[in-house]
Amino acid sequence: MELRAVRGMNDILPEEVERWHKLEGAFRLHAELHGYAEVRTPLIEPTELFQHQMGETTDVVEKEMYSFERHGDRLTVRPEGTAGAARAYVEHAVHAKEPVTRWYYLGPMFRGERPAKGRYRQFYQAGCELFGDPGPLCDAETIDLVATFLQRIGIGDFVVHVNSLGSAGTRERYREALLAHFAPRKGELSEDSQRRLEKNPLRILDSKDPRDHAVSRDAPSILDLLDDADQAHWQGVLRCLDVLGVSYVIDRSLVRGLDYYTRTLFEVKVTSSDLGAQSTLVGGGRYDNMVAGLGGPSVPAIGFAMGMERLLTMMPDVPARRGPGCFLAPLGQSGADRALLLAKQLRALGVSVELDGRGGRLKSMLRRADALGARLCVILGDSEVERGVIQIKDLVAHLQEEIPLEGAARVLADRALEASPGGQRGAR
Ligand code: AMP
Repeated sequence: MELRAVRGMNDILPEEVERWHKLEGAFRLHAELHGYAEVRTPLIEPTELFQHQMGETTDVVEKEMYSFERHGDRLTVRPEGTAGAARAYVEHAVHAKEPVTRWYYLGPMFRGERPAKGRYRQFYQAGCELFGDPGPLCDAETIDLVATFLQRIGIGDFVVHVNSLGSAGTRERYREALLAHFAPRKGELSEDSQRRLEKNPLRILDSKDPRDHAVSRDAPSILDLLDDADQAHWQGVLRCLDVLGVSYVIDRSLVRGLDYYTRTLFEVKVTSSDLGAQSTLVGGGRYDNMVAGLGGPSVPAIGFAMGMERLLTMMPDVPARRGPGCFLAPLGQSGADRALLLAKQLRALGVSVELDGRGGRLKSMLRRADALGARLCVILGDSEVERGVIQIKDLVAHLQEEIPLEGAARVLADRALEASPGGQRGAR
């Protein structure tokens, strides 16, 4: 008998592992830049943890968990990372050590879903969890962290969907409103949804069954039922997203498949035939009640998880560059003086720099930048210094633009480091 890997579980062979390393490295770098530190929790947790936190009536808990009994314990191979991280947070009384905790994780998750393109039974997630800050500012920062990460690895074509579920009181009023909407049309719902109607009508909204879609279409929106505090929080999140320049769509139908969420919810989706029907790259939201639900103090939290296989499908291959991140081509004395200072500032920001101090002609300096394989070339002549600007030539994208000299180091560093998975800093 020929033995094969379990359906929906994949081997990752050495030739593919390099791309995984790049993605993982880029994620670590990005998360650490935002103050997150890595946590590693067990692959197996008590079944109860997921039942209570994710919710008894969710698809994952009802149908997809790999659960078993051993030595009298009911155990489950983790289907996601949030519940385990929150359990560890409570178990180690982390709240008593620091007011705000930022953890990230990477690793395999297990769900007995029907395998398809982009949907596996063992799949990998990278995620962040932030404990201890209830404010809308950190919801927006979390979403921005995700959006800038996707850009960093070269995924540009995505849409951020946001919604708010409100807190417990709002949820209860919403439950009643949904019940009033669905109960008269119970017969049109799928068997699963009929069963969940009384217990958890919210779950009907994220059902995959087309019969449920038809009845859900004109269901009431929770955004119309938010109380004053929830409304203020929600408006705060949107305002901070605007400040950060993150584009988003408000998606009233977004509820996500787990019970633990409160207030802000978000997903990042792409439209790509490469992913088949699995268009969601990232899912996340606030879960202000989980820590208390696990026996800890009342500590608010927010987090997200990204599907690594889906990110890899969308991530373009960026050829490794050996050259410096930035090549500086000064012309004239004041250009050279400013270039000296700029080189120093860029190196302090982690960008490798080569400054051409030979005082030659622009053409020969550009030839040198190309030969080195530099990512960016900066032209700084006396006339630029006089006007307070610099010229940037992007030698990868073949674009040229002029930016203000003031603050140029930060802009150049962002450019030189972006789209370089693994955080490769233009190092030779
Ligand atoms: P969730 O934990 O369900 O919110 O999922 C978060 C992200 O993990 C999704 O947006 C997907 O990118 C990824 N994901 C979830 N389930 C699977 C699966 N069965 N196979 C591959 N990726 C998945």
